[in-house]
Amino acid sequence: MSRFELTVWGARGSIPAPAAANTVYGSDTSCIELRCGERLIFLDAGTGIITAGRRLYEAHVFDFDILLTHCHFDHIMGLPFLLPLYKDHVSARIYAGHFLDETSCQEMVAGFMCPPYFPVKPKQFAARIDYRDFRPPQELDLGDGIVVKTFRLNHPNGAVGYRIDYDGRSLCYITDTEHQPGTIDDSLVAFIAGAEVMIYDATYTDEDFQRYAGFGHSTWQQGVRLCRAAKVDRFVAFHHDVSRTDSWLAELDARMAAEFSGAMVARTGLTLFL
Ligand SMILES: [Zn+2]
Ligand SMILES: [Zn+2]
Repeated sequence: MSRFELTVWGARGSIPAPAAANTVYGSDTSCIELRCGERLIFLDAGTGIITAGRRLYEAHVFDFDILLTHCHFDHIMGLPFLLPLYKDHVSARIYAGHFLDETSCQEMVAGFMCPPYFPVKPKQFAARIDYRDFRPPQELDLGDGIVVKTFRLNHPNGAVGYRIDYDGRSLCYITDTEHQPGTIDDSLVAFIAGAEVMIYDATYTDEDFQRYAGFGHSTWQQGVRLCRAAKVDRFVAFHHDVSRTDSWLAELDARMAAEFSGAMVARTGLTLFL
């Protein structure tokens, strides 16, 4: 079977969380690296992509795709600092499809990499960058047998969930989405059905969820319910709130594992093989 693996480079949501109490689970924001055979795909470009990008450049990986769930800062903050984008022998494709209007991926990047917010404009990228727009549920064919399905999530300003199908296995990345308490979204269950792994927005817990209605996030318990309904074996709780310390997340890890044997808390450096 071909190589299909994921590595977490950043599991935080909303803002980075550098602190002595956050060294085990990490402080960087959303970024997952996928290896599908020889191909490399990033899910989101939060601050976690900065270290990942440096490593991959040192490893002579000069071609990759970036799938953005949406462009809230925590998911794009690392993009202006992604070293390979400043090298002329690098090729990258950046996908975005969450916009609720006609905004394009390229316009969005130009819009936030722009003085006075940031001194460097995207035209200073030396890499060959192809900005690709889509609208869910459009399916994306990345080539080499990698097929990406897309799903519109419930989040302020929009967000996209991804299902990456490769060599008979599937990984779902469902972050920045709010569920309706007491219900399960059948269309989302169908979207993730039978996947090997689901990474899911676990910003809150069922206990504190009520206070954050409308914030656009979900709970680990909802992630477990979705996995049960969709027969997904492994569940990765993701997008940790800045207040969650290592000890809090370790307790969550134990609590989740007791509830669902394939559950785990995402931390920087976690690698899973599909
Ligand atoms: Zn987020
Ligand atoms: Zn967001």
